[in-house]
Amino acid sequence: MKNTILIMLLTVLTGCSTAKTTTDMSNISEQTVQTVLARLGETSQDALAPPAERGVRQAAALWREPDGSQDDFIEFCLENYCVSEQSREVLFNKLSVAFENIFGTANQLSVALKKPVHLEGEELTQIDLIMGNYGTSAHFMEDMYANKVAFVCVLNFPNYSLEEKDTLGHRWDRKQWAYARMGDLFTHRTPSRLNQEMARASGNAENYIASYNIMMGNLLTEDGRRLFPEDMVLLSHWNLRDEIKSNYAALPDALEKQQMIQKVMEHIVCQTIPACVINDSEYDWKPYSNTVYKEGQIIDAPDEENVRYEHLLATYTVEKQMDPYHPHMPTAIIRNFEGSMEISAREIEELFINLVSSEQVKKVAAYIEKRLGRKLEPFDIWYDGFKSRTSIPEDELTELTRKKYPHPDAFKSDMPRMLQVLGFDSRESQEIASRIVVEPARGSGHAWGAVGRWEPSRLRTRIGPHGMDYKGYNIAVHEFGHNVEQTLSLYDMDYYMLNGVPNTAFTEALAFIFQKRDLQLLGYPGKQMDDNTVLDIFWGCYEIMGVALVDMYVWQWLYENPDADSQMLKQAVNDKARMVWNRYYEPVFGQPDCPLLGIYSHMINSPMYLPNYPFGHIIEFQLEAYFNDNVNKNGKTLAGEIKRMFTLGNLVPQLWMEQAVGSRVSTDPLLKAVDACAL
Ligand SMILES: [Zn+2]
Repeated sequence: MKNTILIMLLTVLTGCSTAKTTTDMSNISEQTVQTVLARLGETSQDALAPPAERGVRQAAALWREPDGSQDDFIEFCLENYCVSEQSREVLFNKLSVAFENIFGTANQLSVALKKPVHLEGEELTQIDLIMGNYGTSAHFMEDMYANKVAFVCVLNFPNYSLEEKDTLGHRWDRKQWAYARMGDLFTHRTPSRLNQEMARASGNAENYIASYNIMMGNLLTEDGRRLFPEDMVLLSHWNLRDEIKSNYAALPDALEKQQMIQKVMEHIVCQTIPACVINDSEYDWKPYSNTVYKEGQIIDAPDEENVRYEHLLATYTVEKQMDPYHPHMPTAIIRNFEGSMEISAREIEELFINLVSSEQVKKVAAYIEKRLGRKLEPFDIWYDGFKSRTSIPEDELTELTRKKYPHPDAFKSDMPRMLQVLGFDSRESQEIASRIVVEPARGSGHAWGAVGRWEPSRLRTRIGPHGMDYKGYNIAVHEFGHNVEQTLSLYDMDYYMLNGVPNTAFTEALAFIFQKRDLQLLGYPGKQMDDNTVLDIFWGCYEIMGVALVDMYVWQWLYENPDADSQMLKQAVNDKARMVWNRYYEPVFGQPDCPLLGIYSHMINSPMYLPNYPFGHIIEFQLEAYFNDNVNKNGKTLAGEIKRMFTLGNLVPQLWMEQAVGSRVSTDPLLKAVDACAL
């Protein structure tokens, strides 16, 4: 019985991964492309300006047999290529209006369907969850290829690579930039079977990670003591890491507990963890000698072996199959860095190495060592002693925020005043605030931006029955920063196609800039980031940049070893984790060859996402340094500079920074802020 099911499963699997069929790839020959170019040349002299060839070639690469024959393609290009700039501009404006309507309406629909899940109110039922997960844009791409809008776009507004945007982009005017952003809409046509395979691989990885619990009450020291409460269950790696962090407080056995968690983490990375101790409280485990007990008796317990890396390998295998469908971005590494983040892997590597190998790391490490009164150990990458201190007791602040904000409307009516405190004039303040609604969140809160210029952006916040406490207020001010960015970068934008910011790091930067001024907004002037906050962010960057480097090096290794199995991949992850450790962490912590940097779950369920976190802080410190040097000089105000920067729109990150602060992305402001701390 079991075998039949297995065979059926295998058949289904092979059926899904057969080599690409002809309908997956372009049916347009080079000769057809040449014919189109020659005939466009006959129609108009202008037409052979560089974009014609670029657009025709890109459209040809995306065309498939079901779209039409080679003759159909020729006819399509001749009919739809705009031979004059005037007609191109008319087309561009019409498409912009149409896309704003489509994207804006889809967003509105999402907001409405997710309302029961996101907002406080009626009791949640199963149907709310199903409707909330409905993808309102799921068929957009397919539809746009089917009605050929995608081809009209590509033909007239072709795609430019990151390198081209970064170099040619300096000379482009705003309209050319908006054209280029339209060229980013339709760049590939991945067959839906591969999208489904990717969804399956990530779903499996997600489930694996989401149910990887360590039963802390079952951990034994070598002399048989239990250090953790019997019912403590910690999810790897987040809860394990947070338990290390909370043991910097004066708790019983704190150091011994931290050391034991590190040992557990190492077993997970190396996969020497006994498979039976994951998620199962039947077994006791001594991590140091790696012995397992059942009902007091030592038992033979096989290692997990390679399961962790089988998931990573499955994701890579699908990515590799997607490569041929992304002729401009032929690897997952390029798609992640140059595509999503719009900064190359090489630039990220340089930025991160600049920080992790800095002198400042050694200075801060020595300071932590002094505070702890002992030599650092590897788990101290999660040192958590830099707590920001407000000079005002939190109870006093909560009393104030509860009185000021008993309900969401009270926060909403106060927004214009807060904006004026930051220097916006009364008209601007009213206008921005009128485009933000405040709603009671079910969870801890978030900011949801508008996509069409008829919608408000939404500040979702949690307000208890006694009003908003200080912690809630502090988060609400962070979200308010997001809403201001979302409003400026949509409503005050010259071209709809340029709305937004280069990537999530930039909206986070403004949210943090607001959040740090929360006391000023409450009426305590002159309160700014303290040394502890700077050091906390810096040490967090140092830790996560190392993990992000390991993640990136592992993907490079995968592309160099495309036939690797999960056993080889496990070895490679261990090698890369140890290499990064020995270069940038061993000089600070000692203990060579520590594999701890391989522990992050993101590496398995959202590969290469980690660089986004420290990137946001790098940008934030660069903006703060600029404000420090420029605001209140030469007639510049904080509000004026925020407005100028956040209406630059969706340029590439490096160009945005050059225009915003006059230099490319750099870790120097963060390093200088550390230098300015009293250590
Ligand atoms: Zn945020």
